[in-house]
Parts: sequence; C-alpha cells; structure tokens
Amino acid sequence: MISFSNTNRRKFREHLEHERYDLLIIGGGITGAGILLDAQTRGLKAALIEMQDFAQGTSSRSTKLIHGGLRYLKQLELALVAEVGRERAIVHKNAPHLTIAEKMLLPLTKNGSIGKLGAWFGLWLYDYLAGVKKEERRIMLSADEVLKREPLLDKSKTIGGVLYYEYRTDDARLTFEIIKEAVERGGLALNYVKAEKMVVNQAGKVTGVQAQDMLSGESFPIHAEYIINATGPWVDETDALDQTSRKSKIIHTKGVHIVIDHKKLPIRQSVYFDVPDGRMVFAIPREGKTYIGTTDTFYSGDIKNPEITGEDCQYLVNAVNEVFSDAAIQVGDIESGWAGLRPLVREEGKAPSAISRKDEVFEYESGLITIAGGKLTGYRKMAEKVVDIVRKRIKARNGKDIGPCQTAMVKLAGGKFSSSLEKDLAGYVKEGNSLGLSENETERIFYRFGSNTKKVLDFARKPPVNDLPLYWSIQLQYCLEEELIANADDFFVRRTGALYFDIGQVKKHKEAVVAYMAAYFQWPENFKLEQLKSVDTLLVHC
Ligand code: FAD
Repeated sequence: MISFSNTNRRKFREHLEHERYDLLIIGGGITGAGILLDAQTRGLKAALIEMQDFAQGTSSRSTKLIHGGLRYLKQLELALVAEVGRERAIVHKNAPHLTIAEKMLLPLTKNGSIGKLGAWFGLWLYDYLAGVKKEERRIMLSADEVLKREPLLDKSKTIGGVLYYEYRTDDARLTFEIIKEAVERGGLALNYVKAEKMVVNQAGKVTGVQAQDMLSGESFPIHAEYIINATGPWVDETDALDQTSRKSKIIHTKGVHIVIDHKKLPIRQSVYFDVPDGRMVFAIPREGKTYIGTTDTFYSGDIKNPEITGEDCQYLVNAVNEVFSDAAIQVGDIESGWAGLRPLVREEGKAPSAISRKDEVFEYESGLITIAGGKLTGYRKMAEKVVDIVRKRIKARNGKDIGPCQTAMVKLAGGKFSSSLEKDLAGYVKEGNSLGLSENETERIFYRFGSNTKKVLDFARKPPVNDLPLYWSIQLQYCLEEELIANADDFFVRRTGALYFDIGQVKKHKEAVVAYMAAYFQWPENFKLEQLKSVDTLLVHC
C-alpha cells in the first residue's frame, strides 16, 4: 500500500486516471466514506473523490454525537430509533476510542415540552427500542437530585429530570478512520478532487466523471461501472451534472454550535434542555470547553461556507442563560464555533425541526445512484442500502453475487486494540511519559488516533518540528505522512479538532505549523501567507 501522504498525490491521481473502477463515489463525508468501506469489503474495486478535504462538509460540523435516536421518538419514528440504537452499538464496538459514553441530563421544567410521565415512558421506550445496555438505562431524578448534579440550573423551574446516555464522537475523525480502513483494504480515496462533469456513453449511461485536481488545477477522467452521488448538501448540484436527474431532492437547514470556556459554563455533565421556542439544545463539556448547539433554520446561502451570524450566537447565548440561571454568558465569551448544513430530504410545508432526518436513495435512468439525508450514526446502514443496489445490478448483469454487507464486523483504522481500551491507553501513557509527553497529552492523542497512537508516538524519535512542542510536532508529522493533509486547516480543524477545542494553541502555533508545511510542500511565499490568512479567517466568530 502507498502511504496516505500528500506527497503521493500524483500516484493516487495516476491510479484514478488510468484504472477502471467498479464503483466511484463522489463525496468524502461520512456517507461516501461508509460506501467506500462497504464496497471494498465486499470485494469491489472502489474509489472516492472529495472536492475539499475529507469531512469538510457537514461531517465535521455536527453535534458530534453518536445518537441513540431520542429525538426521533418525539416524531414517532420508532423503527428509526431501533435502527439507530443498534447502529450506535456497532460504531462503539468498531471504533471505541471515538465513541465515548457520556451521561446526558435531561432536566424537566415547569411548562417544559416534556412532563414527568412523558419522560418516564419516552425514555423507557427508548431504552427498549434502542436496546440500551442495562448499566446505561435511564435513571429518573427528583428536582433535588437534578440540582445537586447541576447547581447552575434554575431552581425555580426545575421539577425533576432524567439521566440517560449518549455517545460523544469526533465526526471528522470518524469519517477519516472509515476512509483509512477502506484504503488499508485496497480502496482509493483522494481529497481535493472535484467531479466536474458526468461522462455518459452513447446509450445514455454514466461511465465516469471528468474530474479536476483542485490543488494543481489539472483535469482528468475517471472511469467506473457504477457512480454514486454522496455529496450531502451538494446532492442537487451533483445530480444536475447528470441530465436525467435534475429535480431538487433536498432542502438545507443550518445548525450552529458555539464553544465557550468550561469555566464560563461549568456544567458537570452534558445537558439536553428545552428552550422557549419549543426546541431542544445540547450543552456538552469537552476538553476544558463547553459547546452548545444547535440552531435549526432554513438556509439558502453559500453551501461551502455557511456563516455563523450574530443572531445565531445570541439565540444560543439566550437559550443557555434562560435555563442556567447563574450562568450569565455573553456573546463576547464565544471562543469558536461551527455552522453545518443538514441535507434533508424535501418535505414541503414542514418547519425545519419537524423535517425527518431519514435518508433516501434515488436511482436514475443513466445508472447514477444518489443518496440523500441521514445521520452520522446511520452511515453504515446507508452504505449497505447503496451497495445492495449495486449488488443487485451486478447479479442481473453477470450472475455474480458480491454477497451481503460485512462492515458490522469491521474494526475501523484506529479501532484495533490489542487488549482493552484502558490497558492500551495505560501502555501508551507510560511510553508517552518516557518520551516527554504529559498523561493528558497522550490521552488526547489516544482518543484521536486510537490504535495508531503507536505510530504517532514513533515520530518523537525523529527530528522534531522547529518551534513546536513535542505534542504538536508528532501529530503534525503523522498527519503529513499518514493522513493526506494538504492545508493548515486540514490539520487544525479536521485531524485534531484544535480550532474548536484548543483555540489558544492554534493561535500560538499556527506560524510554526504553516512554516513546516511550507518547507515540506515547498510552498511559495504568497501561498504560505494565504494559508496563515485562511487559519485567521477561521478564528473569527460572531
Ligand atoms: P457531507 O459531510 O457534507 O459530505 C459531502 C461531501 O461531498 C462534502 O465534503 C463535499 O465537499 C463533497 N462534494 C460535493 N460536491 C462534490 C463534487 N462535485 N466532487 C467531489 N466532492 C464533492 N448526525 C448524527 O448522527 N449525530 C449528530 O450529533 C448530528 N448532529 C448534527 C448537527 C448539525 C448542525 C448538522 C448540520 C447535522 C448533524 N448530524 C448529526 C447529521 C450528520 O452530520 C450528517 O447527516 C452527515 O454528516 C452528512 O454527511 P454526508 O457525507 O452526507 O455529507
């Protein structure tokens, strides 16, 4: 296998251009990533192209939860609750370092959207449908117990609460670990390659795409038997490249999250709370910060860079101050944040929060297969649906059966632990210690890179990056050699999440990171300055 380094781009490009694939997936978010891994594990020769960095669309801008699907209960989508619950257990088994069980407190308030009886029954049904483990089932709490757990809540309104579990993830890393696993199994994935046009034969069937390398500007064809459109919020644009599939399928709603220092809202666990407009919002402590979200509003602006507006920030700040009466946070406390677009399958006339999060697959006369909607949590089932269609087509064509989905049993790239997660972590902490890393630093690396932590730590034995502490130096070198980063924000946003949860460190080390990358890729001076500017742009919020 060629190492997953940007210095090997040309080789990857040549493969894409000169080989013929069974399957070409357009879109490197979690949906496309899941399809790549599913197809590859069923023995197909599969390739994926992504016009930006992997996960740069919605798959790095979610609430970062592998849900049990509680919100679907409110909409009575019972089958979805059950499926999502099963899927959550599978994701946890295959990537335990990226799916961390988190206690979630649901406070019940006077005039809130859920009463005590409703909460008891709803969460009982949720535990049952989602197959929740015994030790993670709901616990009903009295008002006193809730306030003991979360003294910042408004005492005058709290009437009780429920404690249940959600699983916290890093959406971009999860996407990336799926892609890496597919690549380790022989698949090909390349970021910064855009599908510009469909290539159609005389019979009107799509047989490939004309692609553009977004870094070099070069254009080249890619040929494949089956083409999949997994472009999330761009699904309609990509469909429009095919003359037979022009009707708009999706609608965008924008969801914003803001990040503040944990000291500003020192909650002791995650809280899922009612806001006055009848919606519900999460506040989640993470790495010394608390992130709060989300909003849900119709959106029709720039898909690539949805903006966080002052109104979005104020909405979330008000929501927090309303529920946590002692909090008094201000817009000025916001350190960072992100805005993502939900690619929702159209349901005319419904309010944003009422539109189903279900996925749907569309097949066109040209042979193009499009998948729209869905959630991070359900990515594996979405992939199964798509590859099952391909399975049927292959069988009809030549009688060959590629077999059923295998991915429930496939550990993801960083999910291969030799013993238990805890034992492996203890070993790495010891090794990290001997190399000069603190326990906390090794832990952070471990929950990012999982069983690949060994490879990250190995860089501590090589010459370091000038002006960077060891912790950043080894992660940067690893990401350059093994995680196909091409821009500074690939590293700061989607490989390490630092731009969201460690913004002080980004400010401190951005010059050193860009200087090292500039020397590594031999960037001209003006490009180096552009890189710094683009990190600075991402640092500005509200
Ligand atoms: P994307 O991640 O957007 O990927 C599509 C990719 O296609 C993009 O990277 C884009 O650059 C690429 N692309 C587009 N056009 C082309 C082209 N022509 N050529 C090549 N590439 C192209 N789900 C959960 O399970 N848990 C949550 O907590 C959760 N929270 C959410 C919170 C918010 C605010 C939002 C918006 C969504 C949330 N979701 C959550 C849903 C989940 O994040 C999305 O369903 C999922 O990330 C969509 O992934 P995708 O791969 O379909 O789309």
